[in-house]
Amino acid sequence: MYFDSHAHINNENYTDAQRAELIAAIEASDVSYVVDVGFDLESSVLAAAHARRYPWCYAAAGFHPHNAKDMDEEAFLLIRGLARKEEVVAVGEIGLDYYRNISAREEQEYWFRRQIALALELGKPIIIHDRDANDDVCRILKEEGVFRRAPAGLLLHCFSGSRDLALQYVKLGAMISIAGPVTYKNARKAAEVAEAVPLDRLLIETDAPYLTPEPFRGRPNSSPLVAYTAARIAEIRGMQPEALARATLENAVKFFGID
Ligand SMILES: [Zn+2]
Repeated sequence: MYFDSHAHINNENYTDAQRAELIAAIEASDVSYVVDVGFDLESSVLAAAHARRYPWCYAAAGFHPHNAKDMDEEAFLLIRGLARKEEVVAVGEIGLDYYRNISAREEQEYWFRRQIALALELGKPIIIHDRDANDDVCRILKEEGVFRRAPAGLLLHCFSGSRDLALQYVKLGAMISIAGPVTYKNARKAAEVAEAVPLDRLLIETDAPYLTPEPFRGRPNSSPLVAYTAARIAEIRGMQPEALARATLENAVKFFGID
């Protein structure tokens, strides 16, 4: 029983046949829930459609920092309309990406702040994408008042920061989600985070079709492979994989407000 807190069944490169195959594989697996996470308008619409259609699927709506350059007021209103829906359990993924800088930093920051404010207005959790922008992401979240709510409805997706930063977020009331890279040989930082985060703040994810865990690295990722990430985290923490799977599932159900 696994909860994949972050996947892209809505990935634009899937053919209909590939997506049908992926969905059948999820339904035949030990994965009980998946959050299909939006990264632009089309993908958010599609995620919400998947959430309506499949009982195990929930959606998040939002513009990824890469796509900030394509966002405007009209798109923002449509995201707002989606984010209000019951099957859309979070605003995301939103944040900053200074690794690739596909959108200008000013545009990234502007729409990041607007989407944080939207989540706070609607009372929905936030899914954060942070790549090489640790300081600015944390500062903006503080400035926008995210941590004044306790516990903060905040999930750091595919956390790639240090152990200290993870613990700082935990102290501020956030959840930390760990993805496939924790299974890689050179993943010292991810392993430290996986060990240090309190069990009640930990989530697991695939970010499928990206970030495939070992031993399948190099192939496309899919939600059933979350089991390999869970097994590695359990090993690092000296726990049974089933206990880790159960705890992270319960955390995610509670965090996303799923009954
Ligand atoms: Zn993602």
